[in-house]
Amino acid sequence: MKKTLTMINIEYLEVSYGRKAPALSIDQLQIGRGEHVAVIGPSGAGKTTLLRSIKGYVRPSQGKIEVAGVNLWTARRREQRQISRRLGLIYQQFHLAPRLTVLQNVLCGTLGATSRWRSLLGCFSAEDLRIAWSAIREVGLQEQVHQRADTLSGGEQQRVAVARALAQQPSVIIADEPVSSLDPAWTEDVLKLIATVQSRHDVTLVMSLHQPHLARRFAERVLALRNGRLVFDGPPSALSDDRLEELYRGNNVISLDRAPNTTRSAEATPA
Ligand code: ADP
Repeated sequence: MKKTLTMINIEYLEVSYGRKAPALSIDQLQIGRGEHVAVIGPSGAGKTTLLRSIKGYVRPSQGKIEVAGVNLWTARRREQRQISRRLGLIYQQFHLAPRLTVLQNVLCGTLGATSRWRSLLGCFSAEDLRIAWSAIREVGLQEQVHQRADTLSGGEQQRVAVARALAQQPSVIIADEPVSSLDPAWTEDVLKLIATVQSRHDVTLVMSLHQPHLARRFAERVLALRNGRLVFDGPPSALSDDRLEELYRGNNVISLDRAPNTTRSAEATPA
């Protein structure tokens, strides 16, 4: 096993929205440095809430979540900033600035590492430019570098988003349904690119996927959520069709015709 260092540590985490029952409730979850993890589960299972919790966008109502040993809610501001800027995000809808060029969008990824006045003025150093160019080359968009983002195809825009995340020189990449807006050809292309980038840079990747078969193909570890709880944690090879059917029972992602027999304690296998 190459991965031993814990990058993300979750203990007795509960996240609630308002007074509703917790949207997420996970006792123990550790994700190692350089792991490629897919999060699956039916709609409303808590996938986005988990990803947002890792990024520090939602405050836990109970328990804790640490990234590289830092609890984003209790750490000093400086430490919080240091960790936050190393958490790269890739979204379903790309979240690019449409009127800016590929290069300008990717440069935005370096902003967290730039001083406040520089970022306010949009001044980038030679080092920022070097990092951005290197990320653009890595995703194969050199020829479109001065093209506006809104003139690119969806798949190309997601490539820009990958480059922007890379320009953050991330320790963790969080990808929230990164291929849900793409057609099958671009889905394949973008997932392969994300996997290549993840492994080349030894980044921890936590990616939610709407389509479980893609998690089985691309990830090395799959976490399955249902009703905010972790109901499967293991390699894709252990995620049988029967387990998927149980997981998505009542959801029309895949066909369902067997009775459920899973329990949390039986299925969850913390790393
Ligand atoms: P998934 O990504 O698996 O579809 P989510 O994490 O988006 O699931 O949602 C988990 C649960 O939390 C759902 O019941 C959803 O309705 C609820 N939820 C998510 N975001 C909010 C919010 N901002 N306010 C209130 N409830 C929310």
